[in-house]
Amino acid sequence: MRPSLRHRLLSCLFAPVLLLGAWAAQAQTPTGQAENFELVALGVAGGLEDGNLSSYLVRARGDAHYLGLDAGTVLPGIARALDKGAFADLPPGQDATPQGQVFREAIAGYFISHAHLDHVEGLLIAATDDTGHKPIYGLASTLDSLSRDYFNWTAWPNFADRGAAPALGRYRLTETVPGQWFQIPGTALSASVYPLSHDKLTSSMVLLRTGQAYYAYFGDTGPDALSGGQHRLADIWQVLAPLVRAHRLKGLQIEVSLPNDVADAQLFGHLTPAWLLKELDALATTTGGRQPLAGLPVVVGHIKPSLVAGRDPRSLIRQQLADGSRLGVRFLFPEQGDTVLLP
Ligand SMILES: [Zn+2]
Repeated sequence: MRPSLRHRLLSCLFAPVLLLGAWAAQAQTPTGQAENFELVALGVAGGLEDGNLSSYLVRARGDAHYLGLDAGTVLPGIARALDKGAFADLPPGQDATPQGQVFREAIAGYFISHAHLDHVEGLLIAATDDTGHKPIYGLASTLDSLSRDYFNWTAWPNFADRGAAPALGRYRLTETVPGQWFQIPGTALSASVYPLSHDKLTSSMVLLRTGQAYYAYFGDTGPDALSGGQHRLADIWQVLAPLVRAHRLKGLQIEVSLPNDVADAQLFGHLTPAWLLKELDALATTTGGRQPLAGLPVVVGHIKPSLVAGRDPRSLIRQQLADGSRLGVRFLFPEQGDTVLLP
């Protein structure tokens, strides 16, 4: 056995994979694809740490290609995940480093929830060395911002396929119509995007499907009660409720940017533990039945680090969610480079 291969296998065995009943029998589609998801955290923080900003890769387990979910930090996150044993099943590259191989070949495209810098920085910086014509999926307003504010030959060269000439076309800005399903080429995933209220702009959630299994990834969002009369989360709970009832929603990923002691007026379109718990109550009510959310994995991200001595928002938020939780959901807090299996 080649030393490098043995190293990868060993590191795979001891990888900090968060197993959620992964050994339970897994439903299979007619094509043999497992009906569940694998999530790799490339970046998990909500601001400040420019080497660890919101960015995840998701795939149907066993698939060779991932969809990027936001792209705040990409290449450093891939390196960290490789260190932790991720991507061990992917074929090695001919010329590329393992990091380059994952970046160029394993990522089929990106979903960008909104164009705030902490959700796109890694994609922009690494665009110079990407290959192909990958799709970037998003709402029209998000793609317009990418084109106007970044891919404009002023902030950065225009790697997109429209806007300031010459358009280099490395990325295909692919507009999604809210609520309309589309297939993601090169993957076993389909997707449907829904708008979210996030301070002064529209953010979005993507609902992913493989076979009969679903996964919901939320970009930044405020609670409905602080969103100026908008009820976008309530609308989304209506979409998710039947999937929860049928045990087809395998997980939900959402932000909790700030601890409970931050005043509502200072949230600027983000959630605290108290607000997330309130919104999950609303989902439970919409779903009906007894303990409808029990056991549902809720992946928490976008926790904003603090520069105040002695203050640890991550442990505060963890504690506040645990203390306030009545629904029996399973809160997960992946670190950069961790792999999460969602059966
Ligand atoms: Zn944001």
